[in-house]
Amino acid sequence: MSNDDCLFCKIVAREIPSTVVRESERTLSFRDVSPLAPTHVLVIPKEHHRDAAALVAADPMAMAEVLSEASAVAEQEGLEAFRLIFNTGSEAGQSIFHAHGHVLGGRPLSWPPG
Ligand code: 5GP
Repeated sequence: MSNDDCLFCKIVAREIPSTVVRESERTLSFRDVSPLAPTHVLVIPKEHHRDAAALVAADPMAMAEVLSEASAVAEQEGLEAFRLIFNTGSEAGQSIFHAHGHVLGGRPLSWPPG
């Protein structure tokens, strides 16, 4: 199911262009428009769920596919180390309310995050 007001649903439908790096039955992986690292790819379920918690509650197999696709993106990008982040809720930094994991790598990443 898609949501007419959702930017990432429009990317899935190819109504808004993106640089796709991988696609699977239930997921799409594309480059973030404002990259925060040499590799910054977003991995999303094709179906609309507002965040990672809603996704795992509604469709754990789709979340499993998001996780395995994130690993495949890291391998495809040649990353020996990477970070996978799901900002969940606006206070945690989520700005697009369609579940997505950020795959970040290609530079040293500090911890803890801000
Ligand atoms: P969030 O802040 O919700 O965790 O992450 C949303 C991400 O989506 C941000 O890193 C932002 O740069 C990215 N983003 C926002 N609009 C677009 C867009 O139109 N295309 C792409 N490829 N990424 C976008």
